[in-house]
Amino acid sequence: MGLAAAYRAAKLGHEVDLIEIDSVPGGMAAHFDFGGLSIERFYHFICKSDEPTFALMKELGIEDKLRWRATSMAYYIKGKIHAWGEPFALLRFPHLSFGAKLRTGLHMFLTTKAKNFRKIESLTAREWLEKGSGKEVYNTLWKRLMDLKFYELADEISASWIATRVRRVGNSRKTVFQEELGYIEGGSQTLVDALVSAYEENGGRLHLATKVEQVVAENGRVSGVKAGDRFFEADAVISTVPTPLVSNLVPDLPQDWKDQYDAIKNIGVVCLLLRLKTSISKNFWLNIVEEGMEVPGLIEFSNLRPVKDTIVYVPYYMPTTQSKWNWTDQQFVDEAFSYIRKINPEIKDTDLLDSTVGRLRYAQPVCEPDFLDKLPPIETPIRGLQIADTCYYYPEDRGIAESVRYGQMMAEAIDG
Ligand SMILES: Cc1cc2nc3c(=O)[nH]c(=O)nc-3n(C[C@H](O)[C@H](O)[C@H](O)COP(=O)(O)OP(=O)(O)OC[C@H]3O[C@@H](n4cnc5c(N)ncnc54)[C@H](O)[C@@H]3O)c2cc1C
Repeated sequence: MGLAAAYRAAKLGHEVDLIEIDSVPGGMAAHFDFGGLSIERFYHFICKSDEPTFALMKELGIEDKLRWRATSMAYYIKGKIHAWGEPFALLRFPHLSFGAKLRTGLHMFLTTKAKNFRKIESLTAREWLEKGSGKEVYNTLWKRLMDLKFYELADEISASWIATRVRRVGNSRKTVFQEELGYIEGGSQTLVDALVSAYEENGGRLHLATKVEQVVAENGRVSGVKAGDRFFEADAVISTVPTPLVSNLVPDLPQDWKDQYDAIKNIGVVCLLLRLKTSISKNFWLNIVEEGMEVPGLIEFSNLRPVKDTIVYVPYYMPTTQSKWNWTDQQFVDEAFSYIRKINPEIKDTDLLDSTVGRLRYAQPVCEPDFLDKLPPIETPIRGLQIADTCYYYPEDRGIAESVRYGQMMAEAIDG
């Protein structure tokens, strides 16, 4: 979001400084070197509705780097993998009654066709799913996934947020029988590199490994940013850091605004990246609903982006209040690999070639029903200061496309 905003602002003729605490650009979409493979620390896939990403790639001259691939999704339940996500798979699925299958099939189909979800805005995801698909479906397919991602917050999640996710992935298909997801040749880094180059060509300055300490205001107007050991004078500031960091960074905001930012909940993620000798299954996304397996799913990324070896992400999302958050990286890797061996018993002890763990404290905003009513506007009472993060495009979930769209919008809203 920050990069997209900075690039658009530079293109519009503003003098821009982009300040990033990390030593590399890209934020959650950044790459790192995984034993010689440049790959995202957190998995990234593209859906057919990600228009702002396509438009930006075209503008940057990298539209030929977009790739589409037939992918599949499945559920691991009661010791077996079951195909999911298309009508025949639904009919063959053994853990739901015929009536429940028809009901959820119709409910999900209608969800993919919905223009908006205003009518369900005041419902929780659980209420909406139980009403539309039925309790049997919620308890069999959804409950454990929600519990193992949001824990004590599971019953606070908004229906329209979940419905928007279902619609985004559900519409990313070649036919009704075939899901199709996208990736960028070379990974998200290809987009990040192209953005950084275009930004710098337009006169933008990038300051890496520089921590913003404070956004400074004078007489109700933004005057600059204290970062690293410098003061960056500015008559417009766009903040795209996670909203829980905002009240500390901007002490001049009114208290009721700070309270609103502080009330936005986030969960963290401990995201494992494993390199295996053998494939787990043919699926890109495997949901796990299994007694004794404390993770809601895994992503066999090499079933989307072809790379050497099998690359698997295992995201352990959780509120950071959970004691498991304090586990060591090795504890997570040991647990996840034991699950993988259970799912595919042909995988041997020696098939785990490499592993690494990425952690983020603010990985996923928790959006309750009527979330927009609780969100302060992007334009703050401090003139020239705009603030947004990934929760601002609710009911859309975090995603590169929406972050790009919001970044561009904020750059265009700079006055003067
Ligand atoms: C596990 C996971 C999976 C995901 N999967 C997908 C996917 O499949 N498809 C998809 O499109 N999107 C996905 N996303 C979301 C996607 O990565 C983000 O939407 C996208 O990267 C845009 O993020 P952003 O710029 O809005 O926020 P961020 O990337 O969080 O950017 C905020 C930036 O602020 C910096 N910062 C924080 N504090 C300071 C400070 N004090 N001073 C200076 N800089 C600071 C951070 O280092 C960071 O670079 C995923 C995210 C995660 C975590």
